[in-house]
Amino acid sequence: MIQQVLFVLIAGASLGYAVLQFLKIRRNIKLGKDEPIAGDTAERWRNVLLIALGQKKMFTRMIPAVLHLFIYVAFVLTQVELLEIFVDGISGQHRVFWPILGGFYTFVISFIEILSVLALVATIAFLARRNVLRVARFHQPEMKGWPFKDANYILFLEVALIFFIFLMNSADMARHNDEYGFVVSQFLSPIWSGTGDGLLHVLERIGWWGHILVVFAFLNYLPFSKHLHIILAFPNTFYARLAPRGEMENMPEIMNEVKNMLGLPVENAGAEVNMDNLEFGANDVFSLSWKNVLDAYSCTECGRCTSVCPANLTGKKLSPRKIVMDIRDRAEEIGKKLDTKDTQYAKDKAQPLSAANFEDGKSLFDYISREEIHACTTCNACVEACPVLINPLEPILKLRRYEILSLSEGPSEWLPMFNSMENNGAVWAMSVEREAWKNEL
Ligand code: SF4
Ligand code: SF4
Repeated sequence: MIQQVLFVLIAGASLGYAVLQFLKIRRNIKLGKDEPIAGDTAERWRNVLLIALGQKKMFTRMIPAVLHLFIYVAFVLTQVELLEIFVDGISGQHRVFWPILGGFYTFVISFIEILSVLALVATIAFLARRNVLRVARFHQPEMKGWPFKDANYILFLEVALIFFIFLMNSADMARHNDEYGFVVSQFLSPIWSGTGDGLLHVLERIGWWGHILVVFAFLNYLPFSKHLHIILAFPNTFYARLAPRGEMENMPEIMNEVKNMLGLPVENAGAEVNMDNLEFGANDVFSLSWKNVLDAYSCTECGRCTSVCPANLTGKKLSPRKIVMDIRDRAEEIGKKLDTKDTQYAKDKAQPLSAANFEDGKSLFDYISREEIHACTTCNACVEACPVLINPLEPILKLRRYEILSLSEGPSEWLPMFNSMENNGAVWAMSVEREAWKNEL
């Protein structure tokens, strides 16, 4: 009875705290501007099934993909055992599904045990890749400190989960004369031969409690970790833009100005546009879209984007992974300041602090330097490489647009290009040649 009460109290506190943290993440994502979601819903579900659930894009690199698959499938199927642990914890029973399912129960738990062994192999391989082999993309500047430790913490938690599962199952089998017949634990239970029933029961309980406490710790750690992607990869792939990846988001007001300049027909000609209230590009989380912020929270920090970025590969300061991580960090900073309710962060100090009444004197430019955004070639390689359909290019373009159109700043080297576009309708100062080329098409 004491264990039941303890379980319900810990489960309630743990789930309650986790829900609060997830609501804060939702609030932070919604700090971004509205972005209408259009397009074929069936195609969106296809993306969820193939890319989030099926991990299709992971398989461009076979070894990490297979290792990741072991951990992922083990994680998903272990939830069956977790369900039983929950029912046992609340009802005070022991292996509640065993008398109901019999041989099928043995099959399911044995399957989970095999997956757990494969997941253990994969976890050790991942730890070795990061800490012994020191794969380059895990040791770039943005991965120093917390991001590096975070990845290791999760891997250690996975080892602990697997250890406790086998401690529980093997002690339980030794205690019940191997009657469960679990395929891996039957080789482990002889370790406990000669151990008294009392001690076996204690070992089984340590395994049971250890496993569920690590699960609760994992759940509450997720909101602070890059491993949040195990949940957010699903909405992120669903809401990913369906337009061709190279297509840039248009700015109708600018497009109409250019069309006017070139004497081309203008959509909604005659409609009043208040140029004073127009905002071009983005300088903070508030002027990015909520989808850009969701992207940032879904990032696995795998570095695949950075490893194919031509700017990064040629020694420039730009890393698309860092851009995405910076957006998450800035959203977290704003969220934490909003939680303080301190009006020192309010635009209007007489009004309560809120997302609409927020000004802390900082922006994304305090995280992302101009040198970084100028280095982007807009090649889209990062977008193509991302296994969870994140678009690091979009915020880079928005920051650039803000710099050029809202601040009227930018690298002096770009000025001749803007002048040529304005005067010649082409990026090169050769409008006649361009016209001739165009007519030949
Ligand atoms: S679009 Fe920009 S950030 Fe992305 S890979 Fe190309 S150069 Fe790098
Ligand atoms: S943006 Fe995508 S590819 Fe880049 S680190 Fe994040 S998950 Fe990996």
